[in-house]
Amino acid sequence: MTGLPLGRGSAADAAAPDARAARLTFSGELTQGGWIRGKAPDDVKSLSLDGQPVPLAPDGAWFAAFDRDAPPQATLTVTTEDGTVTRQQLAVAPRDWNIEHVNIARRSGGPSEAFMKLRRPELARIHAARAMRTGAQGWRERFIWPVEGRISGRFGSQRIYRGEPGSYHSGIDITTGKSGTPFVAPADGVVTLVADKPFTLEGNLLMIDHGMGLNSAFLHCSQILVREGDHVKQGQVIGKIGMTGRATGPHLHWSIKWEDDRLDPLLFTGPMR
Ligand SMILES: [Zn+2]
Repeated sequence: MTGLPLGRGSAADAAAPDARAARLTFSGELTQGGWIRGKAPDDVKSLSLDGQPVPLAPDGAWFAAFDRDAPPQATLTVTTEDGTVTRQQLAVAPRDWNIEHVNIARRSGGPSEAFMKLRRPELARIHAARAMRTGAQGWRERFIWPVEGRISGRFGSQRIYRGEPGSYHSGIDITTGKSGTPFVAPADGVVTLVADKPFTLEGNLLMIDHGMGLNSAFLHCSQILVREGDHVKQGQVIGKIGMTGRATGPHLHWSIKWEDDRLDPLLFTGPMR
């Protein structure tokens, strides 16, 4: 992986000279799979990133993020109370994803109808959980690792089957070498999904909303220790690592999404100590 830019950005450079009122500052990880967080001045009425509305908290704080495949430029559009619109160009640093070319054919034919019969209601529950808006405040926090161990799979890794790309790895895999290791909430949130009758792929699946469209999913759990609707605090034990669903060994697959964008958990926590 290349260096992870960590720093501050400012709209000042790109903004028109008469738009000082709309100047936005933020901090975060201005790169594919990364995020930014800031606080807008009082006169900012609304904000969007490449057309995606970015909600403003009552205190003006906001959060936005960049998909794994985000293009190298993004536009932050700021509208002030007096109707002035300013556009701020952001440079989104590309990442050097781990791409493996393999000389085997990608599985063809697509999923069977029997599989899709099981799968459709699972996907419906996942989509419904992601659509929930709970007012959780975890998006304001610096995330912590849910568990420490060996990283056995990185976010964004992808196989290319004879030139045909497979889907990339949507989260980070952490293994402690055994099932049953407890893991904690990486940030405050509200539990939006507990699937303890294993899903076909995810196994026992736990999802947590961190607010502002940001959420975490924890896959393959051996046990889930919270219930839907529970408010959880950062650091609270919420489940145990396992290998339910499609997993070749015990590990925690942790994925993060903001709206439809898939994000790299490593950019939320920093490296493991
Ligand atoms: Zn995984």
